Amino acid sequence: MNKTKIIATIGPASSDKEILRQMILCGMNVARFNLSHATHEFCLENMKKIEELNKELDTNVAIMFDTKGPDIRIGRFDGGMAFLKKNDKIRIYTEDLLGDQTKFSVSYPGIVQDVKVGTIIKLDDGRIELEVVDKGFDFLLCEVLNEGMISDHKGVNIPGVRLNIPFLSEKDREDIKFASEAGADFLSLSFVSNHEDVLEVNDLLIGYNNDHLSIVAKIENEQAVDDIDDIIRVSDAVMIARGDLGVEVPMERVPGIQKMIIAKCHEAGKVCIVATEMLASMENIIRPTRAEVSDVANAVLDGVDSVMLSGETTVGHFPVETLDMMARIIESSEEDINYLDLLDRTMRTEKQDVTGSISYSVAECANRLKCKAIVAPTKSGYTARKMSRFRPSCPIIALTPNKNTLKSLALNFGVHTVYIDELDSFDKLMKVAVEKASKLLATEKGDRIIITGGYPFKLIKSTNFMKIEEL
Ligand code: PEP
Repeated sequence: MNKTKIIATIGPASSDKEILRQMILCGMNVARFNLSHATHEFCLENMKKIEELNKELDTNVAIMFDTKGPDIRIGRFDGGMAFLKKNDKIRIYTEDLLGDQTKFSVSYPGIVQDVKVGTIIKLDDGRIELEVVDKGFDFLLCEVLNEGMISDHKGVNIPGVRLNIPFLSEKDREDIKFASEAGADFLSLSFVSNHEDVLEVNDLLIGYNNDHLSIVAKIENEQAVDDIDDIIRVSDAVMIARGDLGVEVPMERVPGIQKMIIAKCHEAGKVCIVATEMLASMENIIRPTRAEVSDVANAVLDGVDSVMLSGETTVGHFPVETLDMMARIIESSEEDINYLDLLDRTMRTEKQDVTGSISYSVAECANRLKCKAIVAPTKSGYTARKMSRFRPSCPIIALTPNKNTLKSLALNFGVHTVYIDELDSFDKLMKVAVEKASKLLATEKGDRIIITGGYPFKLIKSTNFMKIEEL
């Protein structure tokens, strides 16, 4: 039973119900819809299929919606594309016009004011680079540094420049309302620049009376890296969105930023996701490169909660095989995780209260006694989240009578959720815990499990007991 969770983005390559079924069977924990591309109809249709499969397969695959976020796009070209040649001069206008190899327009009206001579402008995920060499009244004059073919509506990145664009566009607001009404479990926010952006969305959700949607802040520019401590503090989870991050900051800094954010999230007890190009070559070839295998393994060894697939499952030729490969790399890498090290790291920042002390002891005991599972009855998911933070070497089985909690734990390392009826006695809890653990895992006589939670159930909000059961 893998502990590191898998998010797979759903697109044309994965919207067939049979493919979705196979992806779930291979270990998909969360299905992501990227609202930069997916329509509301596409999301609803596929959410329905996933819900049907959840019932049929007795799984709890959760749903993540990902906003488009503030972005700048190129306008259109004569014939749909143009070749921008090295050392050529090209003008960028804000007035809409049909572009060619000497000029094009962009969607951001403030670009001439905000950008200085000497600034580097990146097009199409950084594949083409321009340097601003002069400014006119209504245009920027640029020199092409890295040449290439560019087509309609490609993205524009201007690293290091604070742009005057509101964080939420009209589309983002509509999409967030849609995510709330459609019953999504996670909302990932593109191009968060600081913690106030996260708080703005939090306020919107409070306005919708939605206390279920968890907010995932995507870290994909330098400003977000600079405000990382506060972003982690106000978010439920953080995603290292390496696609845009690798355009906005020098690519060679991405691995260091990734390790720094994973460690900070772990210390703060927040979920951390590593995303993008993890098995990118599997979009076209059935086997990944050794470097990709190493990339996934590295994230797992660092103790990340979840890893994510994007192009591999939206447009790739092998969505199921990619899921299977990811699950195999995770399974093998988890054997090599230094659980003692991760436990130590958490202990340094854990509050010395009752819940913290019990959870630490449970993880420590589970590792020392090689327990088969930790069973955590929980209504809100609190005990399971806390246990996950301590990264025990065995699975955490969260038993809950709350349907929303089943999905809300889908990103947390090591947590497997099981629905149970409301419990009214400690004895019943012990019986159900043993039953569920034995059903889920290949347990044998003499195996040990630890049961932890808060008792009496309705009165206590903290985690205050642990009990070791020998099967
Ligand atoms: C990324 O940029 O790495 C990312 C995950 O965002 P998106 O898939 O929306 O481009």
